[in-house]
Amino acid sequence: LALRPSRQNASPIKVSFEFFPPKTPEMETTLWSSIQRLAPLHPHFVSVTYGAGGSTRERTHATVSRILKETPLKPAAHLTCVAATKEEVNDVVRSYRDAGVRHIVALRGDPVGGIGTAYEPHPGGYRQACDLVAGIKAIGDFEVSVSAYPEKHPEAASLDADIDALKSKVDCGADRAITQFFFDNDLYFRYLDRVRARGIDIPIVPGIVPVQNFKQTANFASKTGASVPGWLAARFEGLENDVETRKLIAAAVAAEQVFDLLDRGVNEFHFYTMNRADLVYAICHLLGLREQSVRAAA
Ligand code: FAD
Repeated sequence: LALRPSRQNASPIKVSFEFFPPKTPEMETTLWSSIQRLAPLHPHFVSVTYGAGGSTRERTHATVSRILKETPLKPAAHLTCVAATKEEVNDVVRSYRDAGVRHIVALRGDPVGGIGTAYEPHPGGYRQACDLVAGIKAIGDFEVSVSAYPEKHPEAASLDADIDALKSKVDCGADRAITQFFFDNDLYFRYLDRVRARGIDIPIVPGIVPVQNFKQTANFASKTGASVPGWLAARFEGLENDVETRKLIAAAVAAEQVFDLLDRGVNEFHFYTMNRADLVYAICHLLGLREQSVRAAA
């Protein structure tokens, strides 16, 4: 896999891909062509998000079940605590267990009133992601991934308080954390140092977002507390109406980011695909992922 002879980090590279459940038949077609394009790269797992307020409960389930039935991929279903009782959430977990799903990404979820409003746990529901992690582990033998925020969750009082919340999720049984996206790798490494110093030893997998649309990404970043460096904005400057060049720049930016992470010892990457395969496929190809090489690594 070492496309760069100087690479110190010779461990096999693991990638995972995140999708969202489609709303329309057209979106379904796009999703499935993306899954088919990315599947031969043998991702470690593919995850399917859960809409705000549990709005995609059925669609997330249907997408995860179809992945399980029609592909050799291992699906991970996202699940939140929002707007549901414990029993309702437990029913979803049991239905995944019975369908053969073995991996859940457990989240608290955003407030019902939207990002920026106060979070109110549902009366009778799971209060926090750590409670959900424990609930899932009590129901079945699931691998459980959770979120992590290198730049802190917007609601957290401090980065230390946020790392305490991560620690409580690990103490409840979380097996892996996937980070919110970030663009400055130093932030990730500084966060990793603090997480390790807090005694957290699960993998903290960097979430990588290839910038399909700079304006949308910057807008989303401002809501989630992820910073957008000036140099990134400068790279997309003046390309508002030039989709083709934007795509080339996006691939170059993401490749630069993952190669720097790789050079600094990271070998597991989670890609936010936005249900589009082309950029992620190109970056994985640059990382050296091929059907044969992944098999050889396995
Ligand atoms: P938590 O880890 O529960 O933390 C939320 C806040 O509460 C933080 O400020 C934390 O510091 C604080 N906190 C938590 N536990 C404690 C505690 N015990 N004591 C004190 N403070 C505490 N949203 C969706 O709706 N659907 C998805 O599919 C989805 N997927 C995501 C995937 C990833 C990889 C990431 C990074 C985020 C995802 N989100 C998703 C967004 C997420 O739901 C929101 O960021 C939400 O606001 C917080 O959920 P959480 O599980 O990250 O929160």
